Amino acid sequence: MKKYRILVGIIMALSIIIIGTSEPAKNLYKASNLISKGIKVDDKKKIEKDILICIDPGHQEKGDSNSEPVAPGSYVKKARVSSGATGVATKKPEYILNLEASTVLKHILEGKGYKVIMTRESHDVNISNSERAIFANNNKADMVVRVHADSLNNPGKTGASILIPAKESKYTTAIYEDSQNCANLISSKMKEAGIKVNGVFERSDLTGFNWSQVPVVLVEMGFLSNYTEDQMMSNPEYQTKLMQAISDGLDEYFANK
Ligand SMILES: [Zn+2]
Repeated sequence: MKKYRILVGIIMALSIIIIGTSEPAKNLYKASNLISKGIKVDDKKKIEKDILICIDPGHQEKGDSNSEPVAPGSYVKKARVSSGATGVATKKPEYILNLEASTVLKHILEGKGYKVIMTRESHDVNISNSERAIFANNNKADMVVRVHADSLNNPGKTGASILIPAKESKYTTAIYEDSQNCANLISSKMKEAGIKVNGVFERSDLTGFNWSQVPVVLVEMGFLSNYTEDQMMSNPEYQTKLMQAISDGLDEYFANK
């Protein structure tokens, strides 16, 4: 009888070890972990990709008005980084919204098998726009997605915009084509998802673009200065829809690379 108990004990201990280390159990844990964060991931669809995406959640808690060159070797200088706009309805600062949405994007992309790095994962940092670009350069990111929200004096203005480096700028000619292709694909995926997009716009005045040696897009998710759009951008469902569309655009871009 005693022997029998010991045998049962050994079998139970072994099965606990086997179940604990098995892949399905680990995957279940991983999936439930993601679901608890509000994102459902179908593990079957997950394909390991060797693609590195750098997400840059725009701004930070405290701006830094010290200046930095707007481009490598340029005499033109701009503030290192600002704290961004504030939502008219939610009163939420842009740097908080940007990190919220960026975190959703990170989980979606990781669920699809992308490798993801973030320029910041907290608010209390001091990383200038050129430093953010250099971080992506040093890590040889395959694409940088900068996440921002717009603001204007005109409260009626709504819609997302996608900014890309300028074709004619000597600093960004090399990264223009890839950035533009990716921006156009993100734009069409957003439109397919029913999101209003104002267009893809070239910018030669942004420090974060001029220092970049890797393709980069900046998504202005919508207008914090519009009462309804401000609230929409803080809605987890809308955030997920928006970030899903960005990830679908990236899928298409890398599928055609
Ligand atoms: Zn911004």
